[in-house]
Amino acid sequence: METSTDGTPAVPGAGEGERPAVRAAAPPSSLSPSRASDFMQCPLLYRFRVIDRLPEKPSEAATRGTLVHAVLERLFDAPAVERTAPRARSLVPGQWDRLRETRPEVVELFADDAEGERLARWLAEAERLVERWFTLEDPTRLEPAERELFVEAELESGLRLRGIIDRVDVAPTGEVRIVDYKTGKAPRPEYAEGALFQMKFYALVVWRLKRVVPRRLQLVYLGSGDVLTYDPVMADLERVERKLLALWEAIRLATETGEWRPRPTKLCGWCDHQAVCPEFGGTPPPYPLQVRSPESADGGQGRMGPDAT
Ligand code: SF4
Repeated sequence: METSTDGTPAVPGAGEGERPAVRAAAPPSSLSPSRASDFMQCPLLYRFRVIDRLPEKPSEAATRGTLVHAVLERLFDAPAVERTAPRARSLVPGQWDRLRETRPEVVELFADDAEGERLARWLAEAERLVERWFTLEDPTRLEPAERELFVEAELESGLRLRGIIDRVDVAPTGEVRIVDYKTGKAPRPEYAEGALFQMKFYALVVWRLKRVVPRRLQLVYLGSGDVLTYDPVMADLERVERKLLALWEAIRLATETGEWRPRPTKLCGWCDHQAVCPEFGGTPPPYPLQVRSPESADGGQGRMGPDAT
């Protein structure tokens, strides 16, 4: 799921054109797949989200993703034979009401939609995505062991990894399958490795927690109707652990030196922080944490977390 899961969420709610309000800053203390991806995409974006905690506006696509995830999760409350496409579709309005209650900021998405036409199209698209799931999986034959499972594990280095797994299936033989729903389209084959990073991250956490290497990692793309699977081996998990440790070391150094480089890509088009990004003529807010010189920060090698002792 594409929500923040590291306890340092970006805060939605900035108004159009406003300089976003800054909440209390704190050094990062754990890593989730989303935030790890942020740092790999652009270190400055990571800083804005995790350290400055700048507000971000809700987007139609991300909110629809949250809604569809909620529907798929709730459907498993029903007995297996009743997990049908019409039943799933019928859950959409109620889950949308619930989302508006728990996250009132999403209401602003349709504030200018007086006739309700855009909202109706948006809800219809959510229903289509829910319906497409039935062409990819058969929920009448599934009994998830876990849904929306919050997981957290500490590596030997002290680095804490955390996240939320959409679904965990456990076969009678004990084999574990980790499933994640995506409301977007499947990536082209050359980008599949990036998509699998999140799943290998979860596999590492599950392995650390349960000492079981998941048999299968499964990404279900509702936008394009594709399923991407990968059967990991121990070497994959060791590789992703090494990668995360290197990433965390880079985050530690940036946290202590205050040097967060912008890395412009075409993804900047989706970034909420162009107004405070030097690449777009902006100035970042004052760095809210204590800064050390790069030399003294280097001297801290071996510490795996910015707030580790
Ligand atoms: S606009 Fe681009 S370069 Fe600037 S912070 Fe956002 S992602 Fe990074």
